[in-house]
Amino acid sequence: MVSSAEGVFKLREVGCKSALSKSGLACWALNCYVGCEHGCTYCYARFASRFSHPGEPWGSFVDVRINAPQVLAQEVRRKRVGRVFVSSVCDGWQPREESYYLTRRCLEILLHYGFPVTILTKSALAGRDLDLLGSGDGVSFGVTLTTFDEGLRRLIEPKSSPTTQRLALLEEAKIRGIRTYAFLGPLLPYLSDTEENLLGLLEAIRGVGVDYFYIDRLNPRYGVWPSLKRLLERHFPYLVREYQKILFDGWIRMEYSEKLRLVVNRLARKLQLDEKMRQCF
Ligand code: SF4
Repeated sequence: MVSSAEGVFKLREVGCKSALSKSGLACWALNCYVGCEHGCTYCYARFASRFSHPGEPWGSFVDVRINAPQVLAQEVRRKRVGRVFVSSVCDGWQPREESYYLTRRCLEILLHYGFPVTILTKSALAGRDLDLLGSGDGVSFGVTLTTFDEGLRRLIEPKSSPTTQRLALLEEAKIRGIRTYAFLGPLLPYLSDTEENLLGLLEAIRGVGVDYFYIDRLNPRYGVWPSLKRLLERHFPYLVREYQKILFDGWIRMEYSEKLRLVVNRLARKLQLDEKMRQCF
């Protein structure tokens, strides 16, 4: 257990029976950690630890699946080769990975056994492992981008890397010949869904030359609203009511989504990015 000015952080080393799990995002998902120290306010992965960590605030605990590489080394011999998403319910390069090297070691195994991988991270630490990816077929390297406003980024994604560092990762991956993509979202109403912010993000990914990108609105998944509400009440109290309407009033949500779609489509066309766009809403 580690105490800091922000509160108590619980770190545990645990064993796992399986490193690969079935996933809706790819054939398999690899998660070497339970929980994510990045602690994003809007994180959809909370559901994954609702039973193992009841009542513990998201971002305040991480279980390190210490034997993941050993377990994976056995699994890859008997499981069907298929695309692996790294990672689906944590960030594989969250701060503890710097000393544990679990995601790196697992990636080495996956690539050695011919499993295609799709990576998504918000951490500059992933740059450490780009050397593994080469320009191999079947590898996609992506980062999540939400805002260029560093003040907002620190509020909504407190322990993640700044947006400029994530863009630098994409640039480095591109130079290495790796297929790259960006995930723009979830876009937060009135905060990161503004035309100015969207234009900045789209210009940035065009500058890097990503192969494709996803864009998504905010969805009220498990545990997201209580977390966002706390943030809004503290920093943007005038937005609480607006968020409630956009998230939970079916008609307003539809209108909001339609307007956002129009803006996104217009900007993507203007920047000639429409063919690279995969809209999620
Ligand atoms: S980096 Fe991803 S998994 Fe980690 S807290 Fe943020 S959204 Fe959740």
